[in-house]
Amino acid sequence: MDFDLFVIGGGSGGVRCARIASGHGARVGVAEERFWGGTCVNVGCVPKKLLVQAGEYGAWADDAAGFGWSIKKGPHDWGKLIAAKDKEINRLNGIYRRLLDGAGCKIFDARATFIDAHTLDVGGQRITAEKIVIATGGHPERPNIPGADLAIISDDTFYLPVMPKKIAIVGSGFIAVEFAGIFQALGAEVHLIYRQPLPLRGFDQDLREGLAEALAAQGVILHPSCSPEKIEAAGAGRVLTYGGGQTLDVDTVFLATGRRPMTEKMGLEKVGVAVDKNGAVIIDAKLQTSQADIYAIGDVTNRINLTPFAIAEGHALADSLFGKNPRSVSLENVAAAVFSTPPIGTVGLTEEEAAAKGPVDVYVAKFTPMRHTLSGRARKTMMKLVVDQATQKVLGAHMLGEDAPELVQGLAIALVMGATKGDFDRTIGIHPTAAEEFVTMRTRTRVAGVAKAAE
Ligand code: NDP
Repeated sequence: MDFDLFVIGGGSGGVRCARIASGHGARVGVAEERFWGGTCVNVGCVPKKLLVQAGEYGAWADDAAGFGWSIKKGPHDWGKLIAAKDKEINRLNGIYRRLLDGAGCKIFDARATFIDAHTLDVGGQRITAEKIVIATGGHPERPNIPGADLAIISDDTFYLPVMPKKIAIVGSGFIAVEFAGIFQALGAEVHLIYRQPLPLRGFDQDLREGLAEALAAQGVILHPSCSPEKIEAAGAGRVLTYGGGQTLDVDTVFLATGRRPMTEKMGLEKVGVAVDKNGAVIIDAKLQTSQADIYAIGDVTNRINLTPFAIAEGHALADSLFGKNPRSVSLENVAAAVFSTPPIGTVGLTEEEAAAKGPVDVYVAKFTPMRHTLSGRARKTMMKLVVDQATQKVLGAHMLGEDAPELVQGLAIALVMGATKGDFDRTIGIHPTAAEEFVTMRTRTRVAGVAKAAE
């Protein structure tokens, strides 16, 4: 065999798996056909967060007046922002390549497809490997409506030559709500069209309600309970028909309607790697596919589609296969953030999930953060704890508000350790912060889940 391990896909998960395996002494090859660092580094988390920060600067300039500053905000230069972002992303691309090189992995800038369970075609070259890891991630998916190709998808947003003045964003998942905040903050008229009554299906109800209020307060125009029907060209602009024949004339329609695992045209069927109806590679607890020597990690398996989770899986797999340390990554208490404006941080069970299992004590706090008492900006913070009534274990911690992702990362440690509400209560707060609210919630807001438990 040419390699002990061959990794298909140079995204966050694949790169970590390759580097760690190489460190354990394995001979490792990695193929990437598009860009090193994958979605997160190139057309996802990293550039997205830079754009979120660009939007925040504009609002801070407005806020400053309440603190005595006279700041005259000029127009925003989209081209300059994109150029600065590109420079940073190129730097990170280079780092990813160098990390692999430095770890002794052989790099292939090519597409890899299966010939048999131990043989790949890598850019026309036949390569054999003892074990193969599929880490190809996912790609944005357009809904099946007429004119869908006239819309942009998240990959395109990072390279738009000009900032749209009026944009319709379809969907209300992570990507839709994050970009609604970005484009509005940078000066566009933003319409968010989504088929649920509230954005972010699957998130805690209080977070969803709080986010809808926050988006509206920011100036995003919400169109709940509406599905997209068709998109037509009107000169350089677009007409979106939605929600039973309503129309919207915009510069750009952005379809943020989910992502699909990247498993097409890889020859998976030839080698007997089973995929589910969404094209996701099916794996077991050891990340093994239906073919013994082929494994899969990260978004291509469509479970928890978050970069740090893919990295953790890549690391655990390398340790298991080559480091004499078989281990797996827990799917529980994986903290997540939505970089909406303001952002969301969340870990553990939603109130609805917890209440379905038994009675829970729910603590909710909503307040105007200190800064905005002077800035005058209509921006609220919401914090919430969901506590198992019987054991007093904190099952979920949720926050919508400035710095929520930074703060919830710390809370995630407490939840992973099994902290109780009593542990939170005996922790002394840091004053004056928003964070101290999480350790000073003394009065229960409500009890949920009793009826279910009594069944
Ligand atoms: P999501 O799955 O989060 O959301 C998809 C959205 O599109 C939902 O609102 C869904 O509506 C809607 N939708 C799907 N199909 C249709 C349709 N045919 N017509 C109308 N609406 C439709 O996908 P995203 O693309 O936003 O993000 C993909 C994943 O990437 C996320 O789930 C997350 O795991 C990851 N991600 C993480 C980020 C972070 O960590 N901050 C940031 C961005 C992405 P409905 O709810 O009704 O199904």
